Parts: sequence; C-alpha cells; structure tokens
Amino acid sequence: MKIKFILPALQEAKTPFWRPIKYSLFPPLGLATLAAFCSEEDEVIIVDEHIEELTYDDMPDLVCIQTYITNALHAYEIGDSYRKRGVYVAMGGLHATTLPIEAKAHADTVLLGIGETSFPLFLKELREGKPRQFYQTGTVCLDNLPLPRRDLLKRSHYLVPNSMVFSRGCPNQCSFCYVNSFFEKGQSFYTCKIDRILKELDTLPGKHLYFLDDNLFADKKLCHELFREMKSMNRVFQGAITVNSVLEGDLIEEAYEAGFRSAFIGFESMNRENLIKARKQTNINQSYQTAVKRLDELGIMINGSFIFGMEEDDKDTFLRTVSWAIESGITTATFHILTPYPGTSLFHQMKEENRIQSFDWNAYDTRHLVFQHKNLSKEEMEKGYQTAYREFYKWSNIGKASKNHEKVRMSIKHFTYAGAWKKFEPVWNFIVKQKLFPPARRILEKTLR
Ligand code: SF4
Repeated sequence: MKIKFILPALQEAKTPFWRPIKYSLFPPLGLATLAAFCSEEDEVIIVDEHIEELTYDDMPDLVCIQTYITNALHAYEIGDSYRKRGVYVAMGGLHATTLPIEAKAHADTVLLGIGETSFPLFLKELREGKPRQFYQTGTVCLDNLPLPRRDLLKRSHYLVPNSMVFSRGCPNQCSFCYVNSFFEKGQSFYTCKIDRILKELDTLPGKHLYFLDDNLFADKKLCHELFREMKSMNRVFQGAITVNSVLEGDLIEEAYEAGFRSAFIGFESMNRENLIKARKQTNINQSYQTAVKRLDELGIMINGSFIFGMEEDDKDTFLRTVSWAIESGITTATFHILTPYPGTSLFHQMKEENRIQSFDWNAYDTRHLVFQHKNLSKEEMEKGYQTAYREFYKWSNIGKASKNHEKVRMSIKHFTYAGAWKKFEPVWNFIVKQKLFPPARRILEKTLR
C-alpha cells in the first residue's frame, strides 16, 4: 500500500506570530511511531507541513492525518479533499480523540487515544477489507513496540531531531490539561521498560536529546534506573518536569549527572487558590523559590510556563507574574491564556456554566480568550498576555534576570540562551531557510553544557 502520514500546519504557523524556528524544532515523532507498524512492502512517507509544502493532488491508498485543536479545520479540508477522490482517510491525535464525531465527518476512520494498539489493528482490518469507523486505544503495552521510523523524518530540517518519549500521558489530573482527555477512556499513564528505552537511545546520534514526555519524572523508579545508565553516555538533555519532583528525593541530582540541563516547568500561577481550583497537585503547597534555587545550584536552566486567566486572576496578575519570573532568574518563559480544550474537565465546567464564548477551534491557541472571565475582559486579557511577553523579553529584563543566579556561569548561560532564543529572529530565519541546523545545534549543546 502507498501510505501517506500528514501533520497539517497549526493555524498559528500561518499568522504574524509565526516564528519559523518554533515550528522547526521537533520532527513528528508520533507519526514515525505509527509508521513503524507498516509492512516492508508498503511505500510510506511522512509530510510535516511546518517544514515543507503539502500537496494533496496525489493518490495514495491511505492517508493518516494527525490533528491538534488549531490544525483541525485545516486537517478536515485535507481529509475532505482526499476522500472526494476516493482515497481512504484515517484521522487521529488529540482533537480527533476528543471530538470523534466531528472528525468522522472528514475521515473514513477515526483512531481515538494513543495509536500503538489501535493503529496496527486498523491496518490489519483495512488490508482485510473490513475497517471499522472508530478504534479505541484498548490495552496498551509499550515494551514490544518497534522503534519509530526515524529514517522517514527529514532530520536536517529540525533543530532538535533527537526527540524521544518513553512514557505516554501523566498520572496527574490538572483540570485544564488536554493530556487526560486523550486517555479519558482508559489508563492515563504508561511507560516502557528500561531495556526498550536504552535500545532507542542507542539509535540517536550526537549528544543532544529532548525528552518529549508530558511529565518526564512521573515514574521515579524508572527514571532513577535510566539516569544511572545515562551517566556514562555523555549526553545533554532537556524535558518537562513538575515542581514537586524537583523538591522530593535526589532524582534531580541524578538527572543532572546524566546530562539534564534545562527543565520546562509548569508553574502556571502564583496564586494558591488558582492552583487548588485547577487541581494542580504538583504545585500546591510547594515552594517555587526552593525548587528554583535547587535547580540553579545544580546548573539547570528553567523554561517556566505560566497561565493567565485562572479564576482568581486580575489586572495585576500579568506584571506580578513577570516580576516573579525575572526575580527568580527564570531563563525563558512561555505564557498562555487559559484555554478550555474540549474533553478537559475545565471545558465541561465552563460549558455547564455557559461561559464559553467561541467554538472556533483556530482561536484555541492560548493567545486568545475564548471564555468569559469574571475579572477581565477579552481585550484586557489579550493585552495583558502580550505585555507579559514584551516585558519578560526586554533586553533590560533579560539582563536583570540573568543576574539573579548564584554562579556567574549560570548568568552567562542565561543571557546567551534567552537572548539568542528571542532576540535574533532574522538569524533564526536564515538558519531555517539555509538548513544550518547542525552548527546551531552545536552552539545549543555548548550553551547547555
Ligand atoms: S502535571 Fe502537567 S502533564 Fe500532568 S496533568 Fe498536570 S499539566 Fe498535564
């Protein structure tokens, strides 16, 4: 069979906010994972519309489309176009999982949840001529998975081609998080065994790695084992962790020794009430200050993630949050406007309270307010969000935040990393255009070390 996997461009990748580098970071690993279930006789391609042109006038036997909320409408156009010409279309991913009936109008089959079990079953039944309309995740075991077909990914088009995941989902239940809606009908957290992880690690060339797990330290025992093994591998890696995982035990020290140099952390809010209402258990009653200090002493940079628009937020929240991040020496920050993704408990709650003001999925990009907030208007929220970014990334504030580290080495790293990431857009554009990723990656590795 001729099989074409497609990652349609996210809506924001076509707006003035578009930063080519931001969408040239990671290859579509999920599609490469599914491609591994195709047979040797199949002709398989993966197209990532963020880095290459997508044409859809060809005639494969099967098209598999990955949906997120802000590429869903575009994904539907692609699905419709192929189906009109008689091509079989399967859709999966976050959005198709949470709204399968909506997705089904544009696909022959919808795969719900993680595809590691359902996709091979679907392929088998399609070959037998009796595919179903919907496939649920079912029981998943990640241990005997084939390795992702990284040979189908265009490595040279990405800054971080070595991305990897060894778990799926997260054991926590934050009300706004789409991760749980993805697993709504089953277990919400799975991991691979250590041997499988090491086998995959072995296939990744170079030093730099990015673990894309939603919550990297969620299985502490497994992480202890993994980091002990990684100590001698001379890697540097980044990944997403939680506040409590920094404070409990000595896992963070082991991670550092294994090469962990940059942590993405969801601080979300400075307000305890907000955290309680959002069920952000990993942050409630945890000292952000102590967690930040511990990471700083070790030499791990922080990419802090913050949400505006939680229940208790008001006009002062934006600058209060930015001031805290600067005073704490947070290296880079990502700000979001709270977004009730379909399928989350936040969405159900807001719908019940009749507060959702837009069902245009393209506006669910965390830059727009799509619900009624009790203290802030849409204009105030979006202006506050933009102000936060502008203030945090002013040269003067990058300089100020860089000074808030114990060691000079961390101050230099901070200044270089934050400045390079946000202040040299023409340089990044040139790198993306000329595909100069290998030298850029070497500089990234050096900065992280
Ligand atoms: S800890 Fe992070 S990944 Fe887990 S449910 Fe909460 S927001 Fe989602």
